[in-house]
Amino acid sequence: MLTKRPRGTNDFLPEDTAKWQYIEKLLREICRQFGYAELRTPIFEETALFLRGVGDTTDIVQKEMYTFEDTGGRSLTLRPENTASAVRAYVENKLFAGQQPVRLFYMGPMFRYERPQAGRFRQFHQFGVECFGPASPAADAEVIALAWEFYRRLGLKNLELNLNSVGCPNCRPAYRQALQDFLRPHLLELCPTCQERFEKNPLRILDCKNPQCQQFLQGAPTTLDALCDECHEHFEAVQSYLHAAAIPYRLNTKLVRGLDYYTNTAFEILLSDIGAQSAVCGGGRYNGLVEELGGKATPGVGFALGMERVFSALTAQKLALPEQPGLDVFVAVLDKQAQTMAFQLACNLRQSGLAAGYDTMERSLKAQFKYADSQRAAYTLLVGGEELTRDSVVLRDMQSSEQTEQSINEIVAILKEKLAK
Ligand code: ATP
Ligand code: MG
Repeated sequence: MLTKRPRGTNDFLPEDTAKWQYIEKLLREICRQFGYAELRTPIFEETALFLRGVGDTTDIVQKEMYTFEDTGGRSLTLRPENTASAVRAYVENKLFAGQQPVRLFYMGPMFRYERPQAGRFRQFHQFGVECFGPASPAADAEVIALAWEFYRRLGLKNLELNLNSVGCPNCRPAYRQALQDFLRPHLLELCPTCQERFEKNPLRILDCKNPQCQQFLQGAPTTLDALCDECHEHFEAVQSYLHAAAIPYRLNTKLVRGLDYYTNTAFEILLSDIGAQSAVCGGGRYNGLVEELGGKATPGVGFALGMERVFSALTAQKLALPEQPGLDVFVAVLDKQAQTMAFQLACNLRQSGLAAGYDTMERSLKAQFKYADSQRAAYTLLVGGEELTRDSVVLRDMQSSEQTEQSINEIVAILKEKLAK
């Protein structure tokens, strides 16, 4: 029986993983520059963490979680995102007791039961950051700048940063009320999901994709109209920091996250080139989340970006990543008697830091050369024949095809010198 991979998952083959590693390295480098250190949390958590931390009115909790019971009868869930786990880890490991802010990044697989389509998978990968401690608008701008810097270094164009503020527990109740009052006359004409949202999570009606709901929203009050002085000032400051960093943005009053623990800044980075799933990054401030998950009230801000969508974007904009280097040297065997000697030479070359290939298929010399070419070897060493009786090997420069005889005792040093040039 031939088993296939589960729907909505991917195999990444060596040519793909080389690209993933390049992107991951770039992200690590940018995090180092911004002072963010890596956090690794379990792939599964107690289900209760996500019910509270993601919110039981969200799509994720209502229909997208991979939840299972383990043999001990615990309800566990494959992580659909990493912010809740980061908050749990911050509280559980008492990171709040150390130097603040605590700047963390993560990357890895996330799991959501969604309808698979271009840019949407059931196992996908996110990179994200969380900054715990600062309430300052500079922290909001910092995480946005980090995401922006990543796309800039990749050379991606046409990115659109959407920005909004959803206020705070002081100003939101009045806004919520105003929005409900505005929509109430059309309540029964809203889509079923929005009718449900009306009481539980009315802000989410603002970003409903249903055209009819959008029509009833025309002229609706915005969160920006309702910000209290403090939230207004915060939002103005975030914008001046973005100006200072030369990061262009667009105000989008439909961009919301309806839950109480999301406060102030909400942002999303869109890229229309990659089709319908155009959100490449989403984030914002969550001053209520740490407390919601049992810690003491601590401000926080962060984002998550979808890695698969980075690759779609690179393809759509025809951007190639730098190619990985090939082998430094391939050790070819001329005859059976030379096999052990050649193997030993390959080991020595690797110990001295070179990337050395060796033929384990016992192939003809011609086939070995062909293989060396496929591995983009810079040099090939021919081991065996009469040269070996003179304690020497033939060194072939694969580019110029030039061949020279070299002492086997000096070959490592000679190659290192040639490759250093
Ligand atoms: P969407 O509106 O596309 O469903 P979301 O609001 O669910 O996005 P977030 O939870 O904010 O997305 O996740 C952040 C980023 O992770 C998204 O902007 C997107 O790039 C990526 N992402 C989310 N879900 C998936 C998925 N199922 N497959 C691939 N990437 C995803
Ligand atoms: Mg989603």
